[in-house]
Amino acid sequence: MTLAAHHDDEALGQAMSALVEELYPICRSITGEGLRDTLRILAKYVPLELREVPSGTAVLDWNVPREWNIRDAWIKNGQGERVVDFRASNLHVVNYSVPVRARLSLGELRSHLHTLPDRPDWIPYRTSYYDEAWGFCLSQKQLEALADETYDVCIDSSLEPGSLTYGELVLPGATEEEILISTHVCHPSLCDDNLSGVAVSVFLARELSKIKDRRYTMRFLYAPGTIGAITWLAQNREGARRIKHGLTLTCLGDDHLFTYKRTVGGQAEIDRAAAHVLGASGSPHQLIDFFPYGYDERQYNSPGFRLAVGSLMRGRHGQFPEYHTSGDNLSFISAGRMMESFGIVRAIVDVLQGNRSYRNLAPWGEPQLGKRGLYRALGGTDIPNLQLALLWVLNLSDGDHSLLDIAERAQMDFRAIRAAADLLLEHNLLA
Ligand code: ZN
Repeated sequence: MTLAAHHDDEALGQAMSALVEELYPICRSITGEGLRDTLRILAKYVPLELREVPSGTAVLDWNVPREWNIRDAWIKNGQGERVVDFRASNLHVVNYSVPVRARLSLGELRSHLHTLPDRPDWIPYRTSYYDEAWGFCLSQKQLEALADETYDVCIDSSLEPGSLTYGELVLPGATEEEILISTHVCHPSLCDDNLSGVAVSVFLARELSKIKDRRYTMRFLYAPGTIGAITWLAQNREGARRIKHGLTLTCLGDDHLFTYKRTVGGQAEIDRAAAHVLGASGSPHQLIDFFPYGYDERQYNSPGFRLAVGSLMRGRHGQFPEYHTSGDNLSFISAGRMMESFGIVRAIVDVLQGNRSYRNLAPWGEPQLGKRGLYRALGGTDIPNLQLALLWVLNLSDGDHSLLDIAERAQMDFRAIRAAADLLLEHNLLA
């Protein structure tokens, strides 16, 4: 890697971190101003279009819920002190809580309090989207410090007709066929899940928007988990067919090894592209089969749609202690890890965009490379093993093998195979 490239990487990592820091304090949910404000901030980075879908709209088997907004919340003791304070952390309120004002004994209050006894310093993240409930989340230590007295409880929230907001960005390609990059954007102050995924996606969109000749159209979707993907699919039932490959991005800033979760069929081009890129990266990783839990790949892979959407993550859904707790904070993620994740996603998209099949135009024996100036051309690049890559591409370009097939067979990085194909195209040896 050149010095300049290294410097760019560092700047990109810092920019992703800065975006996460800007978004971290906002109280997001599946609807409401926090979600809208978040999308407006993303729209400063990329020309995102915000869509509003009214509450009550039927979407597939669901309905868009009422819009939730919250201004303040607290539990006050007998001295009027806030012993639990929404202003200190938005995780303190069960997300989507109905409004409440009450005076309750500690005993009455207890059934509305959630803690993590095993992690006494952390606040859990809880939601009550689809039933009318209210509650507070606090650390076990805070709970243990509560005296047996009467408390003033307030959740100054509202649940009213409004709309669900999502953001999307389309970068047109030569074909209408699409690659979808989808991230959920509904969690409040949590970093890895999923501000890291949002930041990687936004900066990828920004990078790819600078490329002029794209083969596939790129679609970037930023929507609340589950209901947002369902709403998008309901509104794009026909258009969704254009999605040929896709990824959900989540938990991309932590220290865990990469995990790629396959599509339901497990044999899609995205599955092979992700496996190839992770293998060639030398990063420790694991490939796991689809299961109908996790993030919005569940919706995209449902039988009515069966879109080839896999999922890339580091820490896995529900499998690390910080998951859905206040431990998933700014110090749990790093610019370096997000940068690595960015590199993997970028390379997967490059494989999909560049994976084509060609025919060797001089298939009778090996063409004489020297005569055609190809040895000289090889000297002008810094791609290792380019000569061997040329020979592989020439041998397997019989119309039946794609460049990804060739990279897998040759056990070479797709970039070398793609560069070899470009060189051969330039010298009229491929069509
Ligand atoms: Zn989550």
